[in-house]
Amino acid sequence: MSASKVQPKLIIHGGAGLSLKSKGGVEAVRKALHGIVEEVYALLQAGGSAKDAVIKGCQLLEDEPRFNAGTGSVLQSDGNIRMSASLMDGAVQRFSGVINASRLKNPIALAEFLQNESDRVLSDYGSAELLRELKIPAYDPLTDLRLQEWIEERKQNFSKAMAGTIAEPELTGARRGTIGVVALDAEGQLCAGTSTGGKGLERIGRVSDSAMPAGNYANGRAAVSCTGIGEDIIDECLAARIVVRVTDGLSLSEAMERSFRESKERGRDFGAIALSADGAIAWGKTSEILLGAYHTGAIVGDTLEWTTEEEVSGSIE
Ligand code: ASP
Repeated sequence: MSASKVQPKLIIHGGAGLSLKSKGGVEAVRKALHGIVEEVYALLQAGGSAKDAVIKGCQLLEDEPRFNAGTGSVLQSDGNIRMSASLMDGAVQRFSGVINASRLKNPIALAEFLQNESDRVLSDYGSAELLRELKIPAYDPLTDLRLQEWIEERKQNFSKAMAGTIAEPELTGARRGTIGVVALDAEGQLCAGTSTGGKGLERIGRVSDSAMPAGNYANGRAAVSCTGIGEDIIDECLAARIVVRVTDGLSLSEAMERSFRESKERGRDFGAIALSADGAIAWGKTSEILLGAYHTGAIVGDTLEWTTEEEVSGSIE
């Protein structure tokens, strides 16, 4: 590595929510997250940009049916899947995304395309038009497990606030989902991407935080991807809040600690992953569990067993 280059860093998540039911569930999630972290880190190490790493990481996580994004997305109250995704390139501080897109495999690919357009955030109708324009083949992201979950929920008249964090064969227990990737490349540039099937069971037309700067934000100093109850994330404007705090001089770990402490006092329910340009990696949660994994360049770690009540954030250089 030449003197002007920095050590790339990477952190990803597969959602936040209630603790996973089974030990088997934890191990399966660990295996999936670690495999993706290793694969995406190799790209950064080979000189890939933070933006390319984030797009690749989001695609891999969207393609993993266990997580609530792309294939394996949860169903909304009417039994349809509508997905939202966004990309924020910190190098140029530019946001792009799609809201409630359907019948496609990788929503992050639309966010990628929109990075270079003058209209950069499209809703359902616009994203369907764009799919046609780009000749992206129609794809059904529905899995049997998610359909079964929805059928069970319908029997109980949708009494849950959200669908499962991950698709587990047992139909009760953990909740929530969403995936996210935050990367720092060897040039010192940051990028964040987030993709979701939403809360699950929501009202038609409900807009997720995942394609808003509240849920996914980056500039030249810091980058953040959030997961959890979208309405709580929006009310805290969480991702942008953390990034602005770092930009104004707080360290990443201070910015996370302060933002999560305040959010916990207000009874919020979510988690976030973050990186700063100085190479710090951080994560935070007010939910029971955050399904995060990271690569420092030296070690691969995760946040899967981190279920503490007292601590709201953690970090590693
Ligand atoms: N934040 C997502 C939403 O509210 C859901 C999640 O992260 O689990 O749409």
